[in-house]
Amino acid sequence: MTLKQNVLKLSRSTGLFEAARLATAGHLRILGYHGLWVTPGKAFGDCTFIMPEQFERRMERLKRSGCPVLPLGEAVELLGEGKLPGSAVAITIDDGWTSTFTHMLPVLEALDLPATLYATTWYSGRALPVVNVVAHYLCAVAGRSGADAALATAEIERLPVEDRLLALKRLGACLGVAEDWLETRQFNIMSPDELAEARHRGLDIQLHTHRHIHVDREIDRLAAEIAENRAFLAEAAGAELVHFCYPSGSFHPDAPRLLAASGVRSATLVTEGLNRPGADPFTLRRLLDGPRVSDIEFDAYLAGALHFTGPIRRLMAA
Ligand SMILES: [Zn+2]
Repeated sequence: MTLKQNVLKLSRSTGLFEAARLATAGHLRILGYHGLWVTPGKAFGDCTFIMPEQFERRMERLKRSGCPVLPLGEAVELLGEGKLPGSAVAITIDDGWTSTFTHMLPVLEALDLPATLYATTWYSGRALPVVNVVAHYLCAVAGRSGADAALATAEIERLPVEDRLLALKRLGACLGVAEDWLETRQFNIMSPDELAEARHRGLDIQLHTHRHIHVDREIDRLAAEIAENRAFLAEAAGAELVHFCYPSGSFHPDAPRLLAASGVRSATLVTEGLNRPGADPFTLRRLLDGPRVSDIEFDAYLAGALHFTGPIRRLMAA
């Protein structure tokens, strides 16, 4: 057990979790997920994919915690008005990996938990897995460097779209990696039909740019990317599209103004933290849950005790 986990255990046993819960009652907790690892072998990526069992256990833990879980839109609105119920939580899922549809949605349905999917759409409806992620996966399994993966990505992305799947298969064969990832659709993005069905079954679908751009480097494209992403999702899922997640957490100081001008009402980062009443709705913080987050850290985040900052110190000084 790490030092951090020991400190958190001690904090829980000495009542600090309860103190944190009181001090941060009006703060919004936002959980962030990506997809699940549904392919044989070890999960790839730091927090991009988590094991289905862990996701299910976490959702059950959340349910048992007694924290009210609200739809994101409602939570953001109540946070702005300072009327959030105590220790409220919103669940967000980035990208729209196929496993979100096949494995996460049934868990959310069974536990009756609302969640928001930030869907990136260029790959939706194309029979092509996400090229850069596959290239990094293949190179990692074969013990090659990230630089090799970047090089392979650049070469494959220069090809016409219809030739890229074959190029990925060749790369995998050349590196000696089995094609399990292809059969499980591990690196595919949900199709328009899947997006429509997910929304019909209660998943809130929101914005994440059409091409998963880096907002810091491509701020000039942000408005057009939102418009394309929105048009695609409006046709596929038909929702009110007013919430956004910065792809890869990449931020630019002009983004909030541009997003507001595009009719967007909130935006989430990958920066860890809680959101106090009156927080800027365009820089909302989250806990990115994943294999590196232990149960005690997850509980600490829900209690508001994961970040021993202002509220606790102020409470203790009072
Ligand atoms: Zn993303």
